[in-house]
Amino acid sequence: MAAQSNSDNLAHLLHSVFGFAQFRANQEAVCRAAVAGRDLLLVMPTGAGKSLCYQLPALALGGTALVISPLIALMEDQYAKLAALNLRVARIHSGLDRSVSRQACVEYLRGDLDFLFIAPERLRVPGFPEMLAKRPPALIAIDEAHCISQWGHDFRPDYRMIGQYLPNLRNGATVPVLALTATATPAVQKDIVAQLAMTNPERFIHGFRRDNLAIEVVELPIPERPFAISKLLAKRVHRPAIVYATSRKQSEALAEQLSQLMPTAAYHAGLDSETRERVQRAFLSGRLEVVVATIAFGMGIDKPDIRTIIHAGLPGTLEGYYQEIGRAGRDGAPSRTFLMHSYADQRTHDFFLNRDYPPVENLHQVFRMLSESPRTIDDLRAASKLAEEEFDKALEKLEIHGGARVDYAGNVTIGTPVWTRTYSIQAQHRAEQFGKVLRFTESSDCRMCALVRHFGDEDDAKEPCGRCDGCDPAGSVLRMFRRASNGERSVAELILDDLRPVDHKGAGSLQRAIDPSGRISRDKFEGVLDALARARVIAIEDAQYEKDGEVKHYRKVSLSEMGRRMNSASQVDLLISDGIAEEFTTLTAIKGSRRAAKVPKAPAPRTRESSQPPTRVVSVPPLSPEAEALAVRLKQWRNDEAKKLRLPPYFVLLDRTLAAVAHARPANLSQLLEVDGIGPGKVEKFGPAILKICGAK
Ligand code: ADP
Ligand code: MG
Repeated sequence: MAAQSNSDNLAHLLHSVFGFAQFRANQEAVCRAAVAGRDLLLVMPTGAGKSLCYQLPALALGGTALVISPLIALMEDQYAKLAALNLRVARIHSGLDRSVSRQACVEYLRGDLDFLFIAPERLRVPGFPEMLAKRPPALIAIDEAHCISQWGHDFRPDYRMIGQYLPNLRNGATVPVLALTATATPAVQKDIVAQLAMTNPERFIHGFRRDNLAIEVVELPIPERPFAISKLLAKRVHRPAIVYATSRKQSEALAEQLSQLMPTAAYHAGLDSETRERVQRAFLSGRLEVVVATIAFGMGIDKPDIRTIIHAGLPGTLEGYYQEIGRAGRDGAPSRTFLMHSYADQRTHDFFLNRDYPPVENLHQVFRMLSESPRTIDDLRAASKLAEEEFDKALEKLEIHGGARVDYAGNVTIGTPVWTRTYSIQAQHRAEQFGKVLRFTESSDCRMCALVRHFGDEDDAKEPCGRCDGCDPAGSVLRMFRRASNGERSVAELILDDLRPVDHKGAGSLQRAIDPSGRISRDKFEGVLDALARARVIAIEDAQYEKDGEVKHYRKVSLSEMGRRMNSASQVDLLISDGIAEEFTTLTAIKGSRRAAKVPKAPAPRTRESSQPPTRVVSVPPLSPEAEALAVRLKQWRNDEAKKLRLPPYFVLLDRTLAAVAHARPANLSQLLEVDGIGPGKVEKFGPAILKICGAK
C-alpha cells in the first residue's frame, strides 16, 4: 500500500513539477530507493537523466537537498533549470558575490530552500559544514562522483575530502547519500562507496548498451586513413558524420580534403569561439554534413541523426571513446562507428601522456620554489628553469594535487607534500587507461559487451550485440575477413585439442604448447585464436596477475559451451581478419594486380576465399551501347594520360574502373568518388578530365 501511494506521489510530481510524461528507464526505481532512505550509487550514461533521480526524491521527502557539484557551469545550469520550474534553489560557489552566499545560508537555515548547490571546496571553509549540520538536509547528492576517485579520469582532491564531512551532515546516517556519475569502472565504484562510507548502497548501473550502433575496429596505417575516410563518407547513407582527429593539424587537413566532396568543417580548441559556434550551428542545422574535430567537439551536442562516428586515431580512454561514439544514432536508427588504429598511434599517445603528465621531477622543481610567502605566477615562471609551457603544466598539476595554492590574483603559496602520491598514482592510471584502449582494439570479443563490462555492468555484458565486427564479421564495412586456410584450420584443431582437458590457459602458454619449436608465426596464431573466438568456439578474457608489485595482463583462453560439444573445428566457419576492404585502400591498383583472381563462390558479401588469391568481387554489369562507347573514349584518354605521365596505364585507371565509371556516368566529383576504384587521389588528379569525357558540365 505504502509503496503504491509512494509511486503515485512520484509520478504525480514528475508530471506536475517537471512536466515529464513518464519516467525514463530506471528513474522510477532509483527514486523509490532514495525515498526509502537508501544510499545509492547511480552510474548511467550522460543524458540518461540522472539529475531527476535526486531532484524528484528530494521534493518527495521535503526539506532541502544538498547537492555537491564540481563545476560552476554545471551548478549554474541546474540552478537555472530548477528556478525555471519555480523551485526554491540557491547555490554557493566562488563565482558569486559574498552577499549571495550569505543570503543562501540564511535561506537554508530557515528551511526556505528545496535545493542548495555547493562546490566541494566550500566544505573547507571554517564554520560552513557546522552551519549545514544545524539543519540536516533531506538528502545529499554528489554529482560527477567519479571525481572522488583517484582512479577516475577527473580526480579532484577537494572531492576526496567530502567523505570526512558527511557523518556530521547525515544526522546519524538517516540522511541518504546519492552518488551520481556517467563513468565509473568497477574500481572507481568501489572507491566511491568506500570514500563516502556509504552504508549498504543500492547500485544502479544501467543503460550503457546501445542497440543500434555497429562498432568496427580496424587496423590501418595512418597515411591510409584519409582515403578510407573519404571513401566511407562519400556514401550518402553514412552522413551526417563526426570524425574525431587526434590533433588540430590532422583535423584541419582531413576537413580540407573532405570539404571537396561534401560540406565539411574542422573544429578544434585552436579556433576562436565564434567560429566554433558557427560550425556547431551549421552542423546541427544540416548545412554541414561532416565535422572533423578534436575531442573538444560534441559536448552538449544533441543531433539525433548522426549516422557515423569515425575515430581517425586511438582515443586515450574508453570513457572518452564511449561518449564519442554515443553521439551516433540518438534517433535509434542503425548507425556505424569506426575506430582506426595502428602501432604508430601508441607512439603519438605516449607523447601526449608525457605532455599531460610531465615527469615528476618537473613538479619537484616548481614545488621547491614555493613557500608560505606568496609569489606571483609570472615571477615564478621567470625564475624557473623549465620552459614556459612545462612550467605552466607543472604548476597546474601541483595545484590539482594540493602541492601549490593559487589564489584568484595569481599568487602562489606552498601546499602540502602529499601531492607526490596522488600525482604518480594518477599518471600511472592514465597510462593504464590507454592500455585498456589497446586491449579493446585487440580483442575479438563483442565490442559492445566489452564496453558495457568496462562500465561495470557485468550482467548486461553477457549478451553479444550481433552487429559489431566481432559478432558479424560478414556485415562489417571496412574490415575484411577470409576463410581460414588448411594450415590455419589445423592450428585451430591443435588449439582445441590442447584446451579440451583443461579449464583455461594463457594465450602464451597455449602457443608454446601447440608449437614448441616456434614455427607458427605469432600473427598466424593470433589470427586463428581470434577467428575461434569470433566463431564463439572459445572465449578469450582479459585477466591479470600481480608480480613483484606490478600488474601483468594476459589473455585467458577457454573452450565455450559450444567448443566443448564440438569434436572438430571444421564444424564452424573460421574467418581470419584480413586487413581492410580494397575499395578503401589507396593500394587498390597494386593489390588488384597481385590479387588477380576473383572469388568463385563468395560465402558472404564481405569475405574472401583463402584457397584462391583473395580479392573483392567488383561487379560491373554489362554495359549499355552508350556506356560502351564512353568506356572506349575513357580508355583512349587513359592511355594518352599514362603515356604523358610515363606510367603503366593501370596506374592511371584500371580497366574495370573505367568500365565502372562508364556505367555510372558521374555528373560531379562526389558521384565520381562513389565509383569503385576511384579515390580522392584520383579525383584530384583526373576528376575534371574524366567528368569532361563523361559529358558533365
Ligand atoms: P545526466 O545528468 O544523466 O547526464 P540530465 O539529468 O542532465 O542527464 O538529463 C538530461 C536531459 O533529459 C535533461 O534535459 C532532462 O530534463 C531530460 N529528462 C530527464 N528525465 C526525463 C524524463 N523522464 N522525461 C523527459 N526528459 C527527461
Ligand atoms: Mg548530470
